[in-house]
Amino acid sequence: MNPTDTKIKSLQQIRNFLLDMDGTLYLGDRVLAGSREFLNALRSRGKRVLLLTNNSSRSVSGYVRKLADMDLPVAAEEIFTSTLATILHLRRKGKERLFVLATPDVEREFTDAGFVLTDQQPDDVVLCFDKTLTYEKLRTACRLILQGAGFVASHPDVVCPTEDLPIPDCGSMIQLITTATGKEPEIIGKPYQMMIDSALAKLQATAESTAMIGDRLNTDMEMGFRAGLTTILVLTGEATVRDVASAPRRPDYVVESVADLIDQI
Ligand SMILES: [Mg+2]
Repeated sequence: MNPTDTKIKSLQQIRNFLLDMDGTLYLGDRVLAGSREFLNALRSRGKRVLLLTNNSSRSVSGYVRKLADMDLPVAAEEIFTSTLATILHLRRKGKERLFVLATPDVEREFTDAGFVLTDQQPDDVVLCFDKTLTYEKLRTACRLILQGAGFVASHPDVVCPTEDLPIPDCGSMIQLITTATGKEPEIIGKPYQMMIDSALAKLQATAESTAMIGDRLNTDMEMGFRAGLTTILVLTGEATVRDVASAPRRPDYVVESVADLIDQI
């Protein structure tokens, strides 16, 4: 579907493309038709690409491996996770000591970035999509927050879609800790400002020259709306045509899949 509003930019004018991954380029472990061709077309036309994900259960190198295994080769510099945005944010605020709830792969990302991971008087408790969460970690996190540590969460998604059923994600874990402590976290990932600000900074891009492509209205499109990006919704993941019809705001472009964009960029 092409836009009718003349204020909407043609995609040929767009220099930078932020792409969601799950539901946009692949579903679980299955590459969506046209994803490879679309990425190749972006690169061959000199567009800059950054793959954005809220899913903080995997490190950047973990994503490089996952994509390579799906024969979707992507460089580490082309991937930006909510974990990276969280790390940039904590660094900027001068935080050094953290109690992190995350998978071992993502814990390593924090130590590689120079943080000390500790349960002894940390500055902040940082919650990621911890698929290795235990009751012991939860109890420690709640104790530290009640003793005055800050509380930061990588992203707000309540569930993560899988090919089977949705599974509990970071947002559900936030609710557990908030219920137990009465403290709300600072949240970093899509649709919040920190994620888009740091993604645009990484690309040295302006909102006017950038488009956001994704499958979710309440994160991908919402972040694009708030930041003034050109917004492109694909129907290969979460959002359906019916969701678009009832949404308070319509994305600039709505397409079946990224394959439909190849001739427009
Ligand atoms: Mg998605």
